[in-house]
Amino acid sequence: MIETSATALVAELEAVVGARYVLRDTADVEPYFMDWIGRNSGEALCVVRPGSAQEVAEIVRICAYHGEPVFPQGGNTGVVTGSIPLKGGHGVLLSLSRLKAIRALDKPNNSMTVEAGLTLAEVQSTAASIDRLFPLSLSAEGTCQIGGNVSTNAGGTGVLRYGNARDLVLGLEVVLADGTVWNGLKTLRKDNTGYDLKNLFIGSEGTLGIVTAVSLKLFPRPRQLAGAWIGVPDVSAAGGLLATFQERFDAALTTFELISGPQAAIIYAHVPDARSPLPDYHPWIVFAELSSPLSSADLEAELTTALAEAAEAGLVRDAAIAQSERQARDFWRIRHGVSEANRRQGLNFTHDVAVPISRIGDFLAQADAETTRRFAGAEVYVVSHMGDGNVHYTVTFQPDRVAELAPGIDLGARVTEMIHDLAVACGGSFGAEHGIGQRYRASLKRYKSSIELAMFRQLKQALDPAGVLNPGKVLPES
Ligand SMILES: Cc1cc2nc3c(=O)[nH]c(=O)nc-3n(C[C@H](O)[C@H](O)[C@H](O)COP(=O)(O)OP(=O)(O)OC[C@H]3O[C@@H](n4cnc5c(N)ncnc54)[C@H](O)[C@@H]3O)c2cc1C
Repeated sequence: MIETSATALVAELEAVVGARYVLRDTADVEPYFMDWIGRNSGEALCVVRPGSAQEVAEIVRICAYHGEPVFPQGGNTGVVTGSIPLKGGHGVLLSLSRLKAIRALDKPNNSMTVEAGLTLAEVQSTAASIDRLFPLSLSAEGTCQIGGNVSTNAGGTGVLRYGNARDLVLGLEVVLADGTVWNGLKTLRKDNTGYDLKNLFIGSEGTLGIVTAVSLKLFPRPRQLAGAWIGVPDVSAAGGLLATFQERFDAALTTFELISGPQAAIIYAHVPDARSPLPDYHPWIVFAELSSPLSSADLEAELTTALAEAAEAGLVRDAAIAQSERQARDFWRIRHGVSEANRRQGLNFTHDVAVPISRIGDFLAQADAETTRRFAGAEVYVVSHMGDGNVHYTVTFQPDRVAELAPGIDLGARVTEMIHDLAVACGGSFGAEHGIGQRYRASLKRYKSSIELAMFRQLKQALDPAGVLNPGKVLPES
């Protein structure tokens, strides 16, 4: 490692990207150093904003030479404190937001190749410009970037039909820890030629390489959509409805989200223009959407019939079917209002667990009972990508109750350990789609076997032996 002053390092970085793209003023760097939740921050020597993969490679090479870590950041919407630097002011925050080129659109091949800094919404609209669908969708899509989505293996609301980010990636371009660029931008559906390298980088949260471009799968655009906001009596009925819809609609069922009554109520209370589509309160809501590429399909009629039959079977209490595109957008606005509502409701600890779909009811009953027993006054809000067995279980406290409930104790860590233990005991995972970041390193150590942890460390050692890329994230201290 070569000793150097921050000023000399910054001068080298400025020579690569130009002085205007190396930020050091407090007001300029603050948004990059604070995470989306707004409770966690870090510091680095500077923020650097390269404009090409070659510039990313040069920056990594310079930082590796000087022994300074590189913290890659996309849209900074991650919720596990993975995208910000550590405390202490070391290293360089590398923002990918200027890598915006669309490198190739191949409609007959149903693929596109884009650079990492395009927002997810920009990727979706680029696909739409050639009459194709890029189906990854999540509430942060206006801000999160495709490089971040791939690096976190993001999920969202379309996983039931199209899979998560991993399933949508055909190839990657990655800057490695020594500053070399690996071009793996194939657009093939079949390529069994040795180890599948791209899958090492997908979901590795910037700890093994920096994604600079992505080749993505595209799909035909739906010609018909039908959505319903459905009141159901309990989680078991929601499970019965999911099974019925899957048998009846198979791949046409593209969304099946479960929302607890209290969760829906705080969205209506906090999110402007979010109003309940149903006149009465229901303990659980299902938001389901069907889609079809056939313009002749009458999905609305099919959905109406299915809901009527489900009501007769006692699975459904009431339902509103979207009568217009505007009403369908209103349903989505309510669904996408979850994070904002939770943020406004109090000090919240959100969890992102997965359990087998058949165990969601058990998990929720146990989690509710334990939360009530151990944390008096806690409020619980639940939203679940139910079709994927993914439950976001949020435990919220009014700030004035925290000192009383857990004097001198890390309340969040206690709640999280309880929820994670219960999910794992139900045959589940403590992390479904958000990743590990800094936040869940302790859980990774707690639940992964020693064999798994050893393989993780061997991979890191093989690809980033000097620990340049996003240190302090994912892997626990030994
Ligand atoms: C309102 C809201 C709703 C959300 N809903 C969902 C949801 O439904 N499903 C879901 O899965 N997630 C969800 N998230 C979490 C978040 O949006 C996703 O994790 C998203 O994929 C992160 O993308 P980003 O560009 O913001 O990445 P960042 O937050 O900037 O970074 C996330 C991680 O990836 C690394 N990284 C970023 N870009 C690169 C790159 N180009 N190369 C290498 N590493 C990189 C970072 O170092 C960090 O470790 C939500 C977040 C919010 C705020």
